[in-house]
Amino acid sequence: MSSIKCVGILTSGGDAPGMNAAVRAVTRAAIYNGLEVKAIYRGYKGLITDEIENFRTQNVSNIIQQGGTILKTARCKEFMTPEGRQLAYETLKKHGIDALICIGGDGTLTGARIFASEFDFPIVGIPGTIDNDLFGTDNTIGYDTALNTIMDAVDKIRDTATSHERLFFIEVMGRDAGFLALNGAIATGAEAAIIPEIATENDQLTELIRNGFRKSKNSSIVLVAESPITGGAMALADRVKNEYPQYDVRVTILGHIQRGGSPSAIDRILASRMGAASIDALLEGQRNVMIGIQNDELVYVPFNKAIKNDKPINRELLNTLRILSI
Ligand code: ATP
Repeated sequence: MSSIKCVGILTSGGDAPGMNAAVRAVTRAAIYNGLEVKAIYRGYKGLITDEIENFRTQNVSNIIQQGGTILKTARCKEFMTPEGRQLAYETLKKHGIDALICIGGDGTLTGARIFASEFDFPIVGIPGTIDNDLFGTDNTIGYDTALNTIMDAVDKIRDTATSHERLFFIEVMGRDAGFLALNGAIATGAEAAIIPEIATENDQLTELIRNGFRKSKNSSIVLVAESPITGGAMALADRVKNEYPQYDVRVTILGHIQRGGSPSAIDRILASRMGAASIDALLEGQRNVMIGIQNDELVYVPFNKAIKNDKPINRELLNTLRILSI
């Protein structure tokens, strides 16, 4: 028998489509298993400012299709201090919460790992971030929807790029990870992706120009991950304008549109499975693990592994993009 009677749930860091589906799944799976559920608002901030509400099954009705997070999210500096975490612990005790489910990205799981070890508190993490940059899971919640949003936007830009015979640099999110840029490029038939993972290996722009977005093409689209390592779309476009004035260059920064919208079927299903699995994990006595998905199987990934290891880009995808953009 598990000693856990009441589980707290929060969403933290950048919002991602499918977080609501995960909140729904955690809430309903917990209630199904006889647990009490307390919703914590605004991520770790809500633990410090005591913004907590009892959740019943009805609180999560009609949210599976909504983007964003009904629990709100925040970046909380105070939780990064021992004093802030002490306050958070006191709030949890006050509400009788004896385990936490934290939905978020790398930073959220880092905070969870530190808190769990300081207070010997059971936490299970769910990877919710459009960046797909957590190690140990093939996909994170929100990634597929963001990829589809990018695909729709780039398809539209392609129409105007072709009509005007222009070269477009389109900046997508992905501070440390090129998954959105690389797979977005493959999905839209873009000519190239400029991503942080290989930016230090070679000058991707020079390579791109040498291989030529030219001849047989009457438009070119390059997806650029927004990372400081790539320099971003604006800087790359300026370089091309200076060095190759013959190109008619334009820049589009997709920005926060990538975070919004109704989650795709894939994200809703992933979030539902991971949410339910997080409660199973707690009841099985799992601690300090993130729920991951590998080859369609749910797995438990220790926080340390999920956070510390860089998730590698699949080189086969790079090669495919290169071959298909001739
Ligand atoms: P995304 O990948 O979408 O940006 P994220 O979860 O990585 O999401 P962050 O802003 O990095 O977003 O982290 C969310 C919150 O996690 C932070 O605001 C902070 O409260 C907590 N956090 C992050 N790093 C730490 C840390 N080293 N110690 C304690 N708490 C942390």
